[in-house]
Amino acid sequence: MLRTIKNFANLGDENAFAVLARANQLASEGRDIINLGIGQPDFKTPDHIVKAAVDALEAGEHGYTPANGIPRLREVVADELNRRHGADISPDSVMIMPGGKVTMYMAITLFGESGADILYPDPGFPIYRSMIEFTGARPIPVPLREENGFAFSAEELLSLITPQTRLIILNSPSNPTGGVTPKEEIDKLVKGLEAWPDAAILSDEIYSRMTFDGLEHQSLTSYPEIKDRLILLNGWSKTYAMTGWRLGFSVWPEALYDDVRKLAVNSYSCVNSAAQFAGIAAITGPQDAADDMMAEFDRRRKAVVTALNDLPNTSCAIPKGAFYAFPNISQTGFKAKDLSSRLLEEAGVATIGGPDFGVYGEGYIRLSYANSLENILKAVERIGDFLKANSA
Ligand code: PLP
Repeated sequence: MLRTIKNFANLGDENAFAVLARANQLASEGRDIINLGIGQPDFKTPDHIVKAAVDALEAGEHGYTPANGIPRLREVVADELNRRHGADISPDSVMIMPGGKVTMYMAITLFGESGADILYPDPGFPIYRSMIEFTGARPIPVPLREENGFAFSAEELLSLITPQTRLIILNSPSNPTGGVTPKEEIDKLVKGLEAWPDAAILSDEIYSRMTFDGLEHQSLTSYPEIKDRLILLNGWSKTYAMTGWRLGFSVWPEALYDDVRKLAVNSYSCVNSAAQFAGIAAITGPQDAADDMMAEFDRRRKAVVTALNDLPNTSCAIPKGAFYAFPNISQTGFKAKDLSSRLLEEAGVATIGGPDFGVYGEGYIRLSYANSLENILKAVERIGDFLKANSA
């Protein structure tokens, strides 16, 4: 018998991929499926970004790059963060990563072990908990509640920190709720963290460019007092519709940078070279396509929330960021996962049950509005017909 490591049994999964597979299977059997399950923009990567990658390949950029990324890209990323957030980031603390996820993988690997506690948002991106459990650390959920606009309460978060806390994971704008944590709450948290100088922070800001109603994204990089323990996760996937390119970036405290570079050298060597040239074009080139995409998401956001609030026993708070709606279905009588699975099988609408994002996700389902407005409205109508025809 093959003997893999014991902790492997603790590694979780991302149910969104299983839902996608099931939705595709049903579609291939001829069923009419509307997919609101998947967390990726339904737009094409803008042409000038694709062209930059093609040009790079044609110019012979086929080789390894430095493990931490090509210098010009790290410079462009640092400049952009400094301009946008008034941060003071050197290109030497920027790592180019194969997607956003790998930053959380590395950060949790660096801090997680038996005896360590790691705080993470719940409901939140499922990989946080999965990776924490994989390392043997204790996952401590920080509840995100609807009545707080799905933002953490700094007071509650600070009350969960103990001397065992090694890492605190934050995510705003949030997947799955679309919640955006207000500046006052982040100010309070940063102030309170003075009492816990040994706790590192991983701020997942992958949706930083995706806020609505003129709301400014509040980046943790704007706080110089935590610079020596802040890990920033961000990337191109969502902002520029580049999920399949596998391109992300992170910013690391000086004390961790070389460890992370070594993790890269020991695993993937470097990020795909052509994708890195595309990354430069994305940041330095015209932003119209990214802005147009956000305008379209905004139009859909308003429409989907209005439609969801018209459904029986369902209410939906208006999300302030990302491209997810997280309606409260607790009054329908259905358990969230049961509802989500029946919606897929019986109504042909793919959604994700809230509990796939943590225990505090019960009573909610996630709808991604990365689909045409027409399909979204048709999907909500189908959900309404299902709720009218069925009781739990
Ligand atoms: N962080 C959050 C909160 C996400 O929702 C996602 C993707 O869905 C990621 C990170 C991962 O991004 P990437 O596809 O660049 O790895």
